[in-house]
Amino acid sequence: MERSTSLDYAKKLDEQDVLRMYRDEFYVKPDVIYMDGNSLGLLSKRAERSVLKLLDSWKRYGIDGWTQGEHPWFYFAETLSEMSAPLVGALKDEIIITGSTTANLHQLVASFYRPDGMRTKIVADELNFPSDLYAISSQLALHGFDAEEHMKLVKSHDGFTLLEEDIITAMTDDVALIVLPSVLYRSGQVLDIGKLTEAAHERNVLIGFDLCHSIGSVPHELDKWNVDFAFWCNYKHVNGGPGATGGIYINRKHFGEKPGLAGWFGSDKEKQFDLSTQMIPAANAGAYQIGTPHILSSAPLYGSLEMFAEVGIDAIREKSLKLTDYMMMLIDVELGEYSFVIANPRESEKRGGHIFLVHDEAARICKALKEHQVIPDFRSPNGIRLAPVALYNSFEDVWKTVQILKMIMEENLYKKYENKRDVIA
Ligand SMILES: *Cc1c(COP(=O)(O)O)cnc(C)c1O
Repeated sequence: MERSTSLDYAKKLDEQDVLRMYRDEFYVKPDVIYMDGNSLGLLSKRAERSVLKLLDSWKRYGIDGWTQGEHPWFYFAETLSEMSAPLVGALKDEIIITGSTTANLHQLVASFYRPDGMRTKIVADELNFPSDLYAISSQLALHGFDAEEHMKLVKSHDGFTLLEEDIITAMTDDVALIVLPSVLYRSGQVLDIGKLTEAAHERNVLIGFDLCHSIGSVPHELDKWNVDFAFWCNYKHVNGGPGATGGIYINRKHFGEKPGLAGWFGSDKEKQFDLSTQMIPAANAGAYQIGTPHILSSAPLYGSLEMFAEVGIDAIREKSLKLTDYMMMLIDVELGEYSFVIANPRESEKRGGHIFLVHDEAARICKALKEHQVIPDFRSPNGIRLAPVALYNSFEDVWKTVQILKMIMEENLYKKYENKRDVIA
């Protein structure tokens, strides 16, 4: 019998992998193992083609590209919104592909934070990506509130994960809004969105989620869970390219409420070009757009989302879990003596699309990995994120990554670098 730690076994898993042909859809360098798809997904040939087509429509039509060509730009955000719907479990009207994560969060807090008497606080968590906390703090400041006092940060007991009970305990009478991640960006912990939303609504508090680390990797049922709003970027697991246009979800029960930040692209599309001094907002999530859409930054999404439609998010999640399960098994067996700690939750329901390894020498281990053609993601002060991505990584990639890591540790190859991060990490 083959040993599950052998290269042959990895190859056998690849043969059984029903998604293996999608690797050829991407620009995967033959000599590099890319494990950073949770920071920036790789370029696919289809995404490249949709950018070239978009440029061609500009070349051919000039201004008329807004209404002519294969994907008229005036309706492109709506086209992409419909394609995104299966990834989040919502109706197409509840989604709008627009803006960027942080800017969208500003729009959503400006819209859904309505301090009322005693209710002035916003619940967030101390492990969230800092940009989200910066945005929330500055929104509080616009209302004349001090973030120290009015942003209530749920604490972590272990520095990596949150307890849902702690989040629910923080939902007290003085809370007006809750903003949480779906998947924590370091440990990859998946929060129970359904349970947290139910608890928030029992207490009459609105709740929204940042889906940056789950969209394209983990399925969502935003409508079923009755979430109030959500937002995300499309350059991580969705492979939309650097600075790709992000997304907003607005539960239809909030349609018709006034967006906090208005602009002409939030208008009812039939009325927009009346150019009236009185804005008539769209009757759906489109109302949350502000200015002219970033068409060039949206173009790759067409090709990319087409692939998600073909494969389906459930098949992606299934392979992703197999890849990360396999990686954890190999780390346990091969790296046992090198003081790595697997700091992501081990259970499938609680684990997102990446593995989070903690090690005191993480910064320089990442440098050594890069020199050996493995692209990891260092997170200060001591974390290594490794994301084997279902659409383009293989089980052999995972096997090789762990073997290279083992060699780096065995031969002390990391010691020739300084244990300090680069500017971008
Ligand atoms: C990636 C990420 C962001 C990035 O925000 P941008 O505005 O797209 O730069 C914000 N929040 C979280 C949780 C993220 O994972």
